[in-house]
Amino acid sequence: MTFRQISGPLGRACRSNYSGARALFLDTAQAIGCHIDHYLNERVVGIAGEALYCDVARLGPDSASRKILLSSGVHGVEAYCGSAMQILIMQNLVPQIDLQDLQIIFVHTLNPYGCSHYSRNNENNIDLNRNFVDFSQAQNTSDEQRLFREQAYPADWTGTDLNRCLQRIERYIANYGAERFQTLMTQGQYFSPQDPYFGGYASCWSNKVWTDVCKKHCQANVNLVHLDFHTGLGPRGACELIYTGSPEHVQRASQTFISGRLIAPGAKDSSTPSISGPLCCGLLAVNPDALCVALEFGTIPIEAMLGTLIEANWLHNNPECDEKERRRIQDKTVNAFFISEPDWLHQVWDMTETYFMDALHSLNKT
Ligand SMILES: [Zn+2]
Repeated sequence: MTFRQISGPLGRACRSNYSGARALFLDTAQAIGCHIDHYLNERVVGIAGEALYCDVARLGPDSASRKILLSSGVHGVEAYCGSAMQILIMQNLVPQIDLQDLQIIFVHTLNPYGCSHYSRNNENNIDLNRNFVDFSQAQNTSDEQRLFREQAYPADWTGTDLNRCLQRIERYIANYGAERFQTLMTQGQYFSPQDPYFGGYASCWSNKVWTDVCKKHCQANVNLVHLDFHTGLGPRGACELIYTGSPEHVQRASQTFISGRLIAPGAKDSSTPSISGPLCCGLLAVNPDALCVALEFGTIPIEAMLGTLIEANWLHNNPECDEKERRRIQDKTVNAFFISEPDWLHQVWDMTETYFMDALHSLNKT
């Protein structure tokens, strides 16, 4: 892989828009001989009126006993990085791999609405990475969470001036501290669709797509490693290797990812809070022994990130705002999750390659 490749056409195409990222992904997948399934979300369209798909490309036999599953865009706007990494893996690593008893599965833009509209969430403000809970049971809401919402957020986001929303949050942070704000904001909630980190009232479209892919290709007897691409938390360019699989396999996971240190969400040294209903729950329901990790690549400081998410949440609730303001917030959001600098992309690629090869070597030993 050359420096020019990542900082030139690929970087630009993947950063530009959903259609550009998708076209490059599909061209690359076709060129290396993947089987491709297209899941169309019929209920919504993209920012330019384009149809929205989650595309699933598979290389290697369906009957393989060993599989690597790579997913991008659970958080829509984070797909710009994840998509680039999937394409680079296809171009640079896959051609040298013996696929006799190995399948590699690429799930591209699991939340295409968020990718196209430069949002972390889907069209209903749902954070897909909080949506994998059992909706036949009531979701608990603590008094602390209700009080937090009352104190930190406006009674109604729609029609409330953005600056007033931001001032309210600043006041909350001044009173209770940034750490408490971050914890309560990001843990996931199931009672207020207007607010950030809403997990939904039911399984959303992307959840059903993911479940279908897992049931078809990730059965319980398959020895499977899952890498889920994220950006936005942690120091710029650093990669946090977050283990999200079953606790009983944590040692096996450490032996798999020998180049890094696994971190549990919510641990003291983690940028990622403990959360409810993450994506891995959908996979673990089908294949409880799967080794699941999220690769979280740092971009901008956490205070700036939380501010950006508040602005994006305001935009979701005020879609009629003027065009200039909408573009400003969308640009700010995509720039918070994708750093268009060659050094950042190189760091991200280096770590992606390292952890992908860790997974491959460990599966080759089995
Ligand atoms: Zn994410």
